Amino acid sequence: MKFIGDQIAIGEIPVTQLAEQYGTPLYVYDEQKIRKNFRKVSNAFSKYYPDFKMFFAVKACNNPAIVNILRQEGAGADCASVNEILLAKYVGLGGENVMFSGNFLSDDDIKQGLESGVIFNLDDISILPRLLKFGKPEMLSFRVNPGYGKSNVGEYVTNAGPNAKFGIHPDKVLDAYRMAKEAGVKRFGAHMMTGSCITDAEYFPFVTGLLMDIIGKTSKELGIDFEFVDLGGGLGIPYKPGEPALDLDKAASLTAEMFRKKSEEYGMKPPQLKMEPARYFVGNAGWIIGRVHSIKESYKKIAGTDVGMNTLARPAMYGSYHHIYVNGKENEPRKSIGLCGQLCENTDFWVKERDLPASLAEGDLIVVENAGAYGFGMSYQYNGRLRPAEVLVNGTQAELIRARENFDDMIRHTFVPSHLKS
Ligand SMILES: *Cc1c(COP(=O)(O)O)cnc(C)c1O
Repeated sequence: MKFIGDQIAIGEIPVTQLAEQYGTPLYVYDEQKIRKNFRKVSNAFSKYYPDFKMFFAVKACNNPAIVNILRQEGAGADCASVNEILLAKYVGLGGENVMFSGNFLSDDDIKQGLESGVIFNLDDISILPRLLKFGKPEMLSFRVNPGYGKSNVGEYVTNAGPNAKFGIHPDKVLDAYRMAKEAGVKRFGAHMMTGSCITDAEYFPFVTGLLMDIIGKTSKELGIDFEFVDLGGGLGIPYKPGEPALDLDKAASLTAEMFRKKSEEYGMKPPQLKMEPARYFVGNAGWIIGRVHSIKESYKKIAGTDVGMNTLARPAMYGSYHHIYVNGKENEPRKSIGLCGQLCENTDFWVKERDLPASLAEGDLIVVENAGAYGFGMSYQYNGRLRPAEVLVNGTQAELIRARENFDDMIRHTFVPSHLKS
């Protein structure tokens, strides 16, 4: 995103043009920015640990066009469900380029996961005997809860530690791998995903140390090699202006150092280092363009836009901050204004007050930043306010990558029993 005078452009295309051509609310992604983000992480980590491979956690932005960009860059896919595995296959990713990190799996999930031939990151020891009933994967990984996790979004996306539902308790990890070894599994990996949106570089080597201690002991005790260790995602981005960014080089160098040190300490053959970032690749490469439709002067000035919690759930779900620009008015005097969507829910009043251009008026376009991750994928149809379109911008080119929903989409898959029709 950039300013041309007071006009906002994504890539080289003015948001006024995008709004006119595709309507609002509109998700817009910048292809070049996604590629740049991927390469930043890839270069930073490979510099310190060349045997490095990344998997894009597709839940963050599941448009096939976006997953294809990351596939072209060399990413595999990290999938949370069978349908996400099918999505990965749809864009040409399969086998060991796909990780299945779902949790609390059903028997069907397990069967289909086995049939698809992807790598399982089993979330608990209890799933292993259930899996072995249906087949025996050659390679197996467990998701370890190393006992600690954190996040810039508070408790909401802290994915490890005593209050998390994810991963195997450290005390059960040895038993899990022993059971897998005794069942005849030949190749092993290990996984963790301890938190999302972390901008503290030192966090990454710290949790890496915790995980490596657990699996190092396992490796020694059972005499097994770990082909890979997957440190999960979690690389954070700043959401508020002025918030410090993650020092990627520092995170990479310290993490690689810890990884090597612990591998040596436990006499392990150096495993491949895997990661599954998502937010870092797409978060700041996606925006929502919305329009102000109605302004109310009540207890305060409230601007109603077509961007609500149905379009972008994060503020209502996590209390997250998203920065908002007003096209054509950023240089004007500001005053405290509230901003909401059009749903019949007060959680949809997602900006209670914010300094915005004082002359904010009906018809103005807003641009919501950092909407590329956990944006469209969490959108829903409540109140008949249907899901927006998605557009991919590459320099001066824009292409529709998902059509806006319509009424047919709203009633798709519903049935009215005949006795209700008279
Ligand atoms: C969501 C998720 C990720 C991606 O997390 P980010 O914080 O967006 O990088 C990676 N791995 C797993 C298992 C996940 O559930």
